[in-house]
Amino acid sequence: MPFSSLRSRNNAFAFLSLDRRGDLREDAAWLGERAHAASARYVLLRRDGSALVDATGTALRGLSHSESVALLGSVVAPNYLGSAAADWFLLQADDALAESVAAELGARFLDLRSAGTALPAFDAGLFAYARALAHWQQRMRHCNACAAPLRLEAAGHRAKCTNPQCGIEHFPRTDPAIIVIVTHGDACLLGRGQRWPERRYSTLAGFVEPGETLEDAVRREVFEEAGVRVAECDYHSSQPWPFPASIMLGFTATAEDRRIAVGPELEDARWFSAQDIAAQLQSRELVLSSPLSVSYRLIEHWLREQAGLELSTLNHDEPFMLKRA
Ligand SMILES: [Zn+2]
Repeated sequence: MPFSSLRSRNNAFAFLSLDRRGDLREDAAWLGERAHAASARYVLLRRDGSALVDATGTALRGLSHSESVALLGSVVAPNYLGSAAADWFLLQADDALAESVAAELGARFLDLRSAGTALPAFDAGLFAYARALAHWQQRMRHCNACAAPLRLEAAGHRAKCTNPQCGIEHFPRTDPAIIVIVTHGDACLLGRGQRWPERRYSTLAGFVEPGETLEDAVRREVFEEAGVRVAECDYHSSQPWPFPASIMLGFTATAEDRRIAVGPELEDARWFSAQDIAAQLQSRELVLSSPLSVSYRLIEHWLREQAGLELSTLNHDEPFMLKRA
């Protein structure tokens, strides 16, 4: 696949064909009409960020407008997400109300990591988008310049300080993080963090710092974590990663040489050939990240290019879900 746009679409949460209609977020009449239309659908999130799905856990259970009024009343203002086959809105409910809705509809709540592999790509992407927006709204209650309460505007996509002396506008935050597969000759560099489950190795990753290009972040992180000097690097693909507010920016890179000096963040870093990976997955000496991750996609891409191996066909332990605060 030659284009990064195609590679990104292969990543979990990244295949969301939705028109966000940012131009109409201020148009109250248009939003009101769409919100009441028979085709409107409401994604319901519980306070912990889980979404309402059908009883089988294989699709979002979007509420119609009449269902949302009957089951939730008018306690929450909807946020507009965008338009696809339906117009999608976001609703949030506290635990007790959320559970009563699920019981009433014979539905249940599903967490986003599970949704990444259990739901269709559109539903998973919409859930990730809704969760990112909801998390920002939950955390951004007060102005971080003057501490006055904030008021949501633009159909939930902007928060305005209510202090007339301040009046700052706040916008949803996304923190960029790079993740990179570094190669040298016939090997790739994988590391394992402190306190990771045993046998697990992954591509290296870290947050982009202020005043830094993405390429400089790749070079710095690889050197800080593994002591390896990057020669060249190139963008691979990206993935929304709202755990709680990141976007993962996948890169490929080449190393100047194979010298490793493991830094304090890692417990170990090693060079693996494609055959090493295949053999150690087979013998269960090695566990990789789940297919939910860009790390998996980067390794999958490299194994295919380097050795004609398909990662999905190699022996692979049940993917475990790494919990992050
Ligand atoms: Zn303020």
